[in-house]
Amino acid sequence: SAAPLGSSVIPIVNKLQDIFAQLGSQSTTELPQVAVIGSQSSGKSSVLESLVGRDFLPRGSDICTRRPLVLQLLQTKRRPDGSEEEYGEFLHLPGKRFYDFSEIRREIQAETDREAGGNKGVSDKQIRLKIFSPNVLDITLVDHPGITKVPVGDQPSDIEARIRTMIMSYIKQPSCLILAVTPANSDLANSDALQIAGNADPDGYRTIGVITKLDIMDRGTDARNLLLGKVVPLRLGYVGVVNRSQEDILLNRSIKDALVSEEKFFRSRPVYTSLADRCGVPQLAKKLNQILVQHIKAILPGLKSRISSALAGQGALLLNILSKYCEAFSSMVEGKNEQMSTSELSSGARIHYIFQSIFV
Ligand code: GDP
Ligand code: MG
Repeated sequence: SAAPLGSSVIPIVNKLQDIFAQLGSQSTTELPQVAVIGSQSSGKSSVLESLVGRDFLPRGSDICTRRPLVLQLLQTKRRPDGSEEEYGEFLHLPGKRFYDFSEIRREIQAETDREAGGNKGVSDKQIRLKIFSPNVLDITLVDHPGITKVPVGDQPSDIEARIRTMIMSYIKQPSCLILAVTPANSDLANSDALQIAGNADPDGYRTIGVITKLDIMDRGTDARNLLLGKVVPLRLGYVGVVNRSQEDILLNRSIKDALVSEEKFFRSRPVYTSLADRCGVPQLAKKLNQILVQHIKAILPGLKSRISSALAGQGALLLNILSKYCEAFSSMVEGKNEQMSTSELSSGARIHYIFQSIFV
């Protein structure tokens, strides 16, 4: 029952994090972050949860996400008996492990209220949550408040500008991948997500389009042209998903069930048959992984130069890095072989090649 992100883990990403950490904590900020952006209720939190494979975020038709939630996924080892331990820990509650994910949701809500008040107020002060699990890829995901136009409750009159500034401060960083979420039942050409992503990443090198709510489009319409990029072209393309509806949430339907019914949804609709690689959360996870590999490739030259300068007095460091790298690569090839698809293996092989060209 691995999470979509976890089922396509590239273990070397893990090891890279160790390597970065040894080179000084600052370097880790260059590791990929993924920001999820879009209008309020477009399905951002739902997409994030599906990617993580666990229920833990406040979701709903009203404004739920009112502070940026920085979610650090940290891969842990499975216990020797094969069982797994998954828990969360908040920066504001150090040492307290949350094994019950619905308790995590309640704490996010409570901590949101503490800073932003109980009446729909928004704050740019982060909530930082670490999720430790054997089923995740080491990655940082950021959930943002949705873009809203009309102030409600305690929101200031310039709420839209404030949220946009908040989102921009994350997505303008070149190491940030952007998941730009737009519901299929709204006009893509007017998408807030694509508009703001376009400002931060005008060439579209780090923006993936996510179309949600394919299940509630007008009768007789479908998302083919959206997914094909015929409405708004996007270099990295689009993935269409079906998340849980509000009713599903009220009925406590699990993520696992939701993924099964998403699969059924796409399988039963011939218009999407030829677009299988652009449909569904597992495809989104796969695409994200592929882009992460590319991204790591792009930041490696910087890593190389830092390694060289760190090496000036530290021969041991190189040995350490090399052994970690070898360990990571061999465990990937031997240990996880049967679970990895050809494309993942070739991603691994590419990283292997890149490392060779650095060290040899
Ligand atoms: P956010 O404000 O962008 O974080 O949106 P949420 O993830 O909180 O979702 C807003 C509402 O839309 C919730 O009631 C979800 O159940 C619903 N929703 C999200 N994605 C889908 C989808 O793909 N299909 C359907 N039917 N409902 C969805
Ligand atoms: Mg949300």
